[in-house]
Order: sequence, then C-alpha cells, then structure tokens
Amino acid sequence: MPRIAAAVDRRIRAQARNRCGYCLSPQSLVLSSLEIEHLTPQAKGGSDDESNLWLACSVCNRHKSDKTSAVDPETEETVALFNPRTQDWFEHFRWSEDGLRVIGLTPIGRATVIALRLSDIPRTLTVRGYWVRAGWHPPED
Ligand SMILES: [Zn+2]
Repeated sequence: MPRIAAAVDRRIRAQARNRCGYCLSPQSLVLSSLEIEHLTPQAKGGSDDESNLWLACSVCNRHKSDKTSAVDPETEETVALFNPRTQDWFEHFRWSEDGLRVIGLTPIGRATVIALRLSDIPRTLTVRGYWVRAGWHPPED
C-alpha cells in the first residue's frame, strides 16, 4: 500500500464512506484498518489508478484475492464479481431478515456472496449478531 499516495488513500476512504465495499463493515466497528483493494487485481494487470481502487475489509479482501469472476449458483454462469465503485450494493444484495447474512439478488450478487464468503464464515456471523443486538447493523444505505 505504500505505492498509493496518501491523498488518494484519503479520497478512496471518503468515497467508500469508510466501509468495506462488499460486506459494508464500517471502519468504526473493525479492529484492523480497512484495506485499499484493486478492483482488477494487480496479478491480472490492474493498475494503481484511483479508478481501480476501493476499500475492503481484510476478510473480504483475502477471499477476493485475485478473483475477478465467479459462478452464479442459480444460473451456473460465470459472471464478473460485484464492483463497489461502479455498482450499487442494494441492487445486487440485501440483508437477511436477522441481519446476519448477505443475500445475493442478481447473478453478480449471488456469485460474489459465494466467492467472498460474505455469509458463511461463523465468526463473521457471530460478530454481526453482536452488531445487530447493539443496533449498529445492518446498514440501510
Ligand atoms: Zn468486507
């Protein structure tokens, strides 16, 4: 991350509203610093240009890794992963009634839920459960 200029880092965090573009975890509720991630991974030729950068939590970033696409379990088609810079989260996902799980609404949403493991990591569900009980989660916008 030192290659990303401090001013760009600040702009990305502000544009992303200081939360993970995939699971919407806010910086104020996670212990580690949210990471500047490459939408198109560097391993696949993605640049450090601001247009290719967004904010992700370490869990989502680790599971995204160098993936750019995944299989929609419903249509079995391979589709591009959700792009938090150019796409609207609430068009592709919603929260489960209990607020614990991200539900994919579209092929992109469903494929991204699986690829980034947005809804099946027990520790994540436990933490979200505490956030729900505290009234901090799920975000509505
Ligand atoms: Zn995340």
